[in-house]
Amino acid sequence: MSDVLTTTWTDLNDPNRYHRDKQARTEYYFRFIHGWKLIRCGACNGSGYYDNNGSPPCGNCDGTGKERVSPAEHQRQMELEKKWKERDKEIYGEQNPYEE
Ligand SMILES: [Zn+2]
Repeated sequence: MSDVLTTTWTDLNDPNRYHRDKQARTEYYFRFIHGWKLIRCGACNGSGYYDNNGSPPCGNCDGTGKERVSPAEHQRQMELEKKWKERDKEIYGEQNPYEE
């Protein structure tokens, strides 16, 4: 795998270069883009700003209100959220004041 990502100028005349580059791009896609989720930014809670007093855009998400997380991180957050919801249910029953 590592030799795929170490193309040097000496490889420019390699007839297989196109296919090798393509393979590298595919690997990059699956490692960093495929399956990654956009979730609500944890720093600004999705508003894009830290507060509503005219502060600069949130530095964590650049004011988009969203951040991209890996599939593993997304899974972890979903499980945390589930735990919180179960805990809220234990405390508040069906009339959970924090339910959206
Ligand atoms: Zn943010």
